[in-house]
Amino acid sequence: MIWIPREIHVDAVADLETWADVRRGWGAEAVAEDAIAPLVEGILLRTARLDAPQLERMPRLRLIARHGVGTDTVDTVFARERGIRVTITPEANVLSVAEHAVALLMAVRRGIVAAATGAASRAELIGGELSGSTLGLIGFGRIARRVARIGQGGFGMRVRAYDPGLSDDEVRAGGAEPCSLDDLLDEADAVSVHVPLVSTTRGLLGAEQFRRMPSHAIVVNTSRGGVVDEDALAEALDAGELGGAGLDVSEIEPMPDDHPLRGRANVVITPHIGGQTREAMRRVAMEAAASLRSELAP
Ligand code: NAD
Repeated sequence: MIWIPREIHVDAVADLETWADVRRGWGAEAVAEDAIAPLVEGILLRTARLDAPQLERMPRLRLIARHGVGTDTVDTVFARERGIRVTITPEANVLSVAEHAVALLMAVRRGIVAAATGAASRAELIGGELSGSTLGLIGFGRIARRVARIGQGGFGMRVRAYDPGLSDDEVRAGGAEPCSLDDLLDEADAVSVHVPLVSTTRGLLGAEQFRRMPSHAIVVNTSRGGVVDEDALAEALDAGELGGAGLDVSEIEPMPDDHPLRGRANVVITPHIGGQTREAMRRVAMEAAASLRSELAP
């Protein structure tokens, strides 16, 4: 039996129903009803939490297919002890997040939101071209590579990347010039962040880094809140050390209304919608369903 605690794309449900007994228990929490818990072999898990007490109620469980990338909502230590595999869908929303990073960059560079909402006057809204400018990518994994392709191919940007997890040849093969973080900050007209949030990336961009950047430079973060120090960013903007910022993620989500980064003509904030497109949501659900099929289908 496959259990789907929260609503997912209908095509993935239909795919699962071709080979499995599917139960949908769409509610706020991932708590399987007593009648189905002993029968569940696979779960297609969106955002609900699955801790040890819940997992313990499902002795036949073999696979948790996460709808998305993080596994922080699952007690993975307990799952491993019980031989329960946990899969993710790392490729499914790469295109959507990359396009959103570029959308934020364009919106900030041209003052689109301030122009559309009347937050700044026409005379104040002198934008800049992306063409020919330098794009610095921090982290050069799946999403950043796609951003590099759009920036280079679409706008003729010079793309530089800093990623200590990759060799220089790997960075070049992905379409960017490798460089140190300091060189990237010194030279980039726009910096886009694409790293995971781990202890070494928390506060990766803070006061010192903002001071290095050209005063017209834009910071884009579609990765995770916490990678960019928000107080330091607000101070750098106040001090005129930066040109603006585009943020899809924040330390607290949704970003509070009274946050110091809100209400600025040169900051565009979106509520973690980078991966939220029709295409990506379908792909995520289909990839998760495919994991269940390959592990559990008769
Ligand atoms: P990825 O794993 O493919 O790439 C991450 C890269 O970061 C790796 O190459 C790694 O070597 C590099 N890295 C790690 N530590 C670093 C450091 N200290 N400095 C520089 N580089 C470092 O990841 P991805 O799929 O491209 O995702 C990137 C980020 O986007 C993640 O934080 C992910 O959670 C986030 N994301 C956001 C959304 C959204 O809706 N906004 C959706 C999906 C993913």
